Amino acid sequence: MGAKSNFKRSVLELSPYNVSGHPAKIKLNQNESPYDIPSELKKEIIEEFLRIGWNRYPEVFSTSLPKKFSDLYDLPEQSFIAANGSNELIYTVGMSIVKEGVDVLIPQPTFYLFEKVAKILEGNIIRVYSNSDLTFDENGILEHARRMQNGLVIISSPNNPTGKSASREFIIELLKSTGAMVLIDEAYIEFSEHQSSIALTKSFKNLVVLRTFSKAFSLAGLRIGYLTADPETASQILKVKIPFTVNPLSEFTALKLLEHRSLFEERVTFLKKQKVSMMDALRKIDEVEVVDSDSNFFLFATRLSAKDMFEDLLERQSVLIRDVSSYPLLEKYLRVNVGSREESEYFVESLHRCLGRKIKKQNLRVKIQ
Ligand code: PMP
Repeated sequence: MGAKSNFKRSVLELSPYNVSGHPAKIKLNQNESPYDIPSELKKEIIEEFLRIGWNRYPEVFSTSLPKKFSDLYDLPEQSFIAANGSNELIYTVGMSIVKEGVDVLIPQPTFYLFEKVAKILEGNIIRVYSNSDLTFDENGILEHARRMQNGLVIISSPNNPTGKSASREFIIELLKSTGAMVLIDEAYIEFSEHQSSIALTKSFKNLVVLRTFSKAFSLAGLRIGYLTADPETASQILKVKIPFTVNPLSEFTALKLLEHRSLFEERVTFLKKQKVSMMDALRKIDEVEVVDSDSNFFLFATRLSAKDMFEDLLERQSVLIRDVSSYPLLEKYLRVNVGSREESEYFVESLHRCLGRKIKKQNLRVKIQ
């Protein structure tokens, strides 16, 4: 008997997850931090991990992280849920709210996982396309959201992959004007010039904010994300969450990193400057278009097709970035994240080499301060 007929149509229709696993010398494709956790700190964390019993379950739901977040944000502990990365929480929030036919408003283009979860759960996806400069169509979103009595509105701010943020006034207007739950994914907020929406959970029960340790806190490998909402809202979502997904090593590490917050703040400050230098360097190249970004990555286009440039960079320069040309409105674009000084410089030089070969420009070295 075939197995296929057992799967939901919404699952059969999905395409396989496809993040390029190509090995490359320079990896700037997943918006990670280029800097690892300092090895002294890693050793301290491992020492602690050796002391605890691996035969015992961790807490069903982490309490030490919510306690810490409660101090940091001056909100009740019950406002926080920690998880195995914010991806897990996107699923959890989706499962709490979306079923067949329920409206899920997703601005486009954005992080593909939102749409994937909405599809699996058979929601009615409402796509609102960004403006031609790739900023959110805030009026368009509001127009649809006002008509939603329930359901889910998902805003990634700063938005992956455009790097554009939603304005505070817009977020407040959205929260006031819709009956839907509003999920603000702040995976990149540390790199942004905008304020976090976490404090707004005090005033709006229909707001859920997601954060992660994967980007600014250099912890993508150990998987810690968290959610903030009004305690009543969070308690409904917690009913749905998979138990035991926060392992003690990751939990302890996240707590340790919060004690060393200033290190990560310094890194963020450096990376923000580095991004500006990287964008300036690209803008000096003829026929390269760069899209302003409020995050640690940005979009750019060259006179070559995105696919050709992606392949050229990878095959000839061993530089891996992200080809986002299949996203709506992004046909000509590639996404690159800021790397270390050396990586960023190597990337800019590689781009010169690729273009130089094809459009006969000189191989030009660009210094990034
Ligand atoms: N949200 C957005 C917008 C992202 O770009 C990413 C990472 N690609 C995530 C969430 C996932 O973060 P985590 O590692 O916490 O699961």
